[in-house]
Amino acid sequence: MTSPAAGDGLPDYAPVPRSAFGPALNEQGYYVGRVERNLYWVTDGVYQSAFLTTPDGVVLFDAPPSIGGNLRRAVDEITAAEGVTNTVTHLVYSHHHADHGGAAFLFDGDVTRIGHEETRRLLLRDNDSARPAPEVTFADRYTLEVGGERVELAWHGPNHTPDNIYIHFPDHDTLMFIDVVNAGWVPIYNVNLSEDVIGYMGAPDVALSYPWTHFICGHLGRLATRDDVAVHQQYIADVEASSREALASVDPVPFYVAAGANVWAGVKGHLDAVTERAAAPVIAKYTGVLAAADIAEFTYTTTFQIMQSLRLDRGPSGPVHP
Ligand SMILES: [Zn+2]
Repeated sequence: MTSPAAGDGLPDYAPVPRSAFGPALNEQGYYVGRVERNLYWVTDGVYQSAFLTTPDGVVLFDAPPSIGGNLRRAVDEITAAEGVTNTVTHLVYSHHHADHGGAAFLFDGDVTRIGHEETRRLLLRDNDSARPAPEVTFADRYTLEVGGERVELAWHGPNHTPDNIYIHFPDHDTLMFIDVVNAGWVPIYNVNLSEDVIGYMGAPDVALSYPWTHFICGHLGRLATRDDVAVHQQYIADVEASSREALASVDPVPFYVAAGANVWAGVKGHLDAVTERAAAPVIAKYTGVLAAADIAEFTYTTTFQIMQSLRLDRGPSGPVHP
C-alpha cells in the first residue's frame, strides 16, 4: 500500500465550506435521523442510506459497506424507540455499484430484494456474493407497498449507471436518487464516475420534476435541498458552456504541427489545452461555494468527459473533409 510520506502533508486546499457538513456522528461513527415520519436516513459522513419502519417490517434502501454493521445498529436504535419490528423484510437497490450495495449480504434470510432489471443483470454478471441479485425486478415503474406505506420506484433512462433509479416517497415529501448530486460538494472524477454523460447531465431535471422537499443523494454527510440540485445544475451548465467556448477558441493545428508524426501527442496537446481553458473559470467560480471545487482534477476530468460528450454524442466531432 502507498501512503503519503511523513511530513508531506496535504496540498493547501481551500477550507471546506461549513454548509457542506452535516450532523455530527456518534461514537460508532454514524448518524441516523428522521427525514419525515417513519422514513430515516443514515450516514457515516460520506455515504448515505435510508430505511422505512413499518408495522410489517423495515424496508432498507441501499447498504453501503462503509456504513456496514452500523445499518443494523441504526435500524435497531430507531425501531426500539418506535416500538416496531426491527426485521428487515425488503431491500431496495438504487443501482448495482458495490460502494452503495456491498453490505446487502448482512440482511439475508427472508428478505425481498428489489431493483431494476438491469441491476439484476449486472449483479449476476459481476457475481459478488456481498450483493445478491434482486429477485423482484421492474423495467420502468414499480410501486412498493409495505405496512401501509407506498414507495414509487422508476427508471428514466441511463445516467450515472445504466440501472440508476429514482426512489420517490410521495407520502414523505422525499426523493432518493444516488450518485449524481453530492450535497454541497463537487462531483468527483469523470462526472462522478458516471457512464452516460448526457443522461447524467439531464438527470437533475428529472429529479426536480418530482414533488419533494428532502433529497437523499447518497453523498456526503447531509441531505440535499432543491437549491443544492440547482447549484449542481449550474456547475454542470457552466462546465458545458465553458467547454463549448474552449472547443471553438483553441486552434488544434499548432498542436498537430508540433507533434509531427506522433498524432496522439497532437491529440493530447490539443485536448489538454481545451480542458484547461474550459475548467479554469469554473474552478475559480465554485471555490468556496462547492466543497473541493479547488481539487482541480475533479473539475478537469469532469470537463474532459463533458467536452468529449459534446463532440461525440452531440456532434459535430470536427469539420467534414471537403
Ligand atoms: Zn455509483
